[in-house]
Amino acid sequence: MDIRYFDNAATTRIKEEVLEEMFPYLSLEYGNPSSIYRLGRRAKKAIETARTRVANLLNCKPSEITFTSCGSESDNMALKGMAMLQKSKQTGKNHIITSKIEHPAILNSCHTLEKLGFKITYLDVDKEGFVNLDTLINSITDKTFLISIMYANNEIGTIQPISKIAKIAKAHNIIFHTDAVQAVGNVPIDVKKLGIDILSLSGHKIYAPKGIGAIYIKEGLEIERYIDGGHQEKNKRSGTENVAEIVGLGKACNIAQNDMSSYINKLKYFRDYFINQIRQKFPNSKINGSLEQRLPGNCNLCFSNINSGELLLKLDAVGICASGGSACSSGDTAPSHVLSAIGVPNELARGALRVTFGDFNTFEDVEFLIKNLEEITKNKITQ
Ligand code: PLP
Repeated sequence: MDIRYFDNAATTRIKEEVLEEMFPYLSLEYGNPSSIYRLGRRAKKAIETARTRVANLLNCKPSEITFTSCGSESDNMALKGMAMLQKSKQTGKNHIITSKIEHPAILNSCHTLEKLGFKITYLDVDKEGFVNLDTLINSITDKTFLISIMYANNEIGTIQPISKIAKIAKAHNIIFHTDAVQAVGNVPIDVKKLGIDILSLSGHKIYAPKGIGAIYIKEGLEIERYIDGGHQEKNKRSGTENVAEIVGLGKACNIAQNDMSSYINKLKYFRDYFINQIRQKFPNSKINGSLEQRLPGNCNLCFSNINSGELLLKLDAVGICASGGSACSSGDTAPSHVLSAIGVPNELARGALRVTFGDFNTFEDVEFLIKNLEEITKNKITQ
């Protein structure tokens, strides 16, 4: 059976060109990049090429990029690294502002920091998923050292007003971190123009493998080491580098940069066609999130009187992969914290479907999805 994959926010298929560049570093180019002989030097060079490619995508210096094992690690490093710095420098600052719709990598890092005595403000969002900038400003205290607001939401695709948030942070002398795991490669990001201090990204959302990520840390910004060990990554992140995956991430960033506008147009075309068809064919459904400030490949909707678990199983039976929310919470029976935060009632949230388009989709895939949604929902699946 053909697989029709509509869960690109959960993960993406690795591109051939990415695999091709990675392959030598999984076989004959096995040197440790810290070794001084040529095999090691070649691995080191490959890492530096990848670093430059990641930096080019974000418009920063290669020296501002540190490789990590995933987006979650980058998020943990940003929050815990900045929090621990406050302790070690005895700044007296102990307050972080974030939002209620962040990924668990942020929310659970915040919960851990609360146990260590830090104070966290979790901002509400409006019904489209936007944080309110006045509320953000009013939440700032003289103890606030970090604002961490995600670039784009992984469930509903809403893109936050990042440059405005960065300006507010700067005006109050507060560091601004953004979890851009869903945004990198899907929207053009210029960290300098936007005024971002720290940014997290992940390889497997942009056609590189799982288990590789990176963090941008603005030049001159101090951050406490999160993983102790050797001197890799200029002492910022210990551990022998995952050379092949770093090379893969670099290549994926390079492709994303070169193909950005055609990629965005393609995803937007699928998304908007799908949304229009949904509106025509399912007038009782509700599209979640902002229609204007939205990731190009994201559609999140709720069907009334449909159980999303059952719907997903029926879609799977015809080879369609989609999601009821985020991959991290699949298996949870509780309605998504993001849908709750935007005010979707629990009964409706239980009928949520997230469809996220990607580069391997065809128009025929989209038609197939719509046709099957119609057929499946005709034989009503009750909650
Ligand atoms: N942040 C967001 C917004 C995400 O969507 C994800 C993954 O779904 C992560 C962080 C975690 O990234 P990783 O899977 O690389 O740990």
